[in-house]
Amino acid sequence: MAEVKITKRSEDFSKWYTDVIAAAELADYAPVRGCMIIRPNGYAIWEKMQAALDGMFKETGHQNAYFPLFIPEHFLHKEAEHVEGFAPEVAVVTHGGGEKLEEPLVVRPTSETIIWNTYRNWIQSYRDLPLLINQWCNVVRWEMRTRLFLRTTEFLWQEGHTAHATYEDAEQETIRMLGVYRRFAEEFMSLPVIEGRKTEREKFAGAHHTYSIEAMMGDGKALQAGTSHNLAQNFAKAFDVTFQTDQGTRDYVYATSWGMTTRMIGALVMAHGDDNGIVIPPRLATIQVVVIPIFRKPEERERVMPFVTNFTGALKAAGIGVRVDDREQYSPGWKYNEWEKRGIPLRIEVGPRDLDKNQVMLVRRDNGQKTPASQDGLTGTIRTTLDTIQSDLFEKAKAFREGNSRRVDDYSRFPEILDGPGGFLWSHWCGSGDCEERVKNETKATIRCIPLQRPSETGQCVVCGKPSEGRVIFARAY
Ligand SMILES: [Zn+2]
Repeated sequence: MAEVKITKRSEDFSKWYTDVIAAAELADYAPVRGCMIIRPNGYAIWEKMQAALDGMFKETGHQNAYFPLFIPEHFLHKEAEHVEGFAPEVAVVTHGGGEKLEEPLVVRPTSETIIWNTYRNWIQSYRDLPLLINQWCNVVRWEMRTRLFLRTTEFLWQEGHTAHATYEDAEQETIRMLGVYRRFAEEFMSLPVIEGRKTEREKFAGAHHTYSIEAMMGDGKALQAGTSHNLAQNFAKAFDVTFQTDQGTRDYVYATSWGMTTRMIGALVMAHGDDNGIVIPPRLATIQVVVIPIFRKPEERERVMPFVTNFTGALKAAGIGVRVDDREQYSPGWKYNEWEKRGIPLRIEVGPRDLDKNQVMLVRRDNGQKTPASQDGLTGTIRTTLDTIQSDLFEKAKAFREGNSRRVDDYSRFPEILDGPGGFLWSHWCGSGDCEERVKNETKATIRCIPLQRPSETGQCVVCGKPSEGRVIFARAY
């Protein structure tokens, strides 16, 4: 196993990120530029994310289905904004079975077109609505620059595609799924997020409007953590999907789509990681507790191991993910370091002296805190400690975000703040695309969202001085 030395986070955040992914063995580069190999440690996090999200999708009435990877090229051209947005990044298959295809096939960049072409056959009447479907799959969007998990040509995601009888129903669904993403981010990833609406320029190609959740990473940059789109009747019109209403008239169907991707693994690294590696929130950790038995002599091993086998059995029975590292070819110190890199939330050290005192040592990954714990009621103590780590990670990330959020009323201060501490700049904006564009060109900051919950406060656009109905969030983003 090659040792990876992790660059200090404060020294070079970007290098630190790459080092942490290598050290924790989350992913590798692939022979094809832009592609990524997700290693078992990374995929285990994805599986936990999938399980949590999938449970919430089903709780809210959705079912999973699967649509093909290949889409006839002309489908993409049916929705004008959609094709304009995606054409530059689609991969096209022109040959198959040794022959040139009659019509090229695009590798799905997202599945609205093929799904709405199918919904035409599935939806006849208002009785067929709502139709609530989700798909877990991979998509391809051509990228020239690779950043593992954050920017890759192929990535894994889920895409929800729902159909509704009215605009209001579609809007409700769009907001409901945004709420599911927020809950997932906050409760499972310990990642505080801000729900908001995207501006016209930043919305999904083909959407009526888009909502997103925005998170702050450890370097003060923003990361869009999930999006939910109200597509109104755009795709129903493009694919001629109509239904008989309960009034007996015919209308086009209303649509939503929403997605979350393997980018979230990158977000997890950048939100909680430190100089020693990643920090996995307990609810997304397959191994939540690693046990390092400490012994030098065979008779010590014979004392320690039966105790370890016994209490880890109880932990497993209680549904806690536990791994015992009793490899004798490595020293305890080497093992501590190794499991810290991999972000295992809690370490338990236990040796003969601990047995004499009826205790074990608990070491938290998030803050390094080391405390003895009684062997009595140990399962309960460990469960409580894991819950505390989960909520402390959230509070720490939230305090960091608050500490790096500023109300800025003077546009000339943008560069010094963005080049300095970064973070979220809450500023007034008049609603004009020109002002938005100017900020982007001059400072590389974009409007992350128009927060759904923002203090009601009128003011003047930070760029042009025209009236503004409230503050929006400007930030540089991944
Ligand atoms: Zn303006």
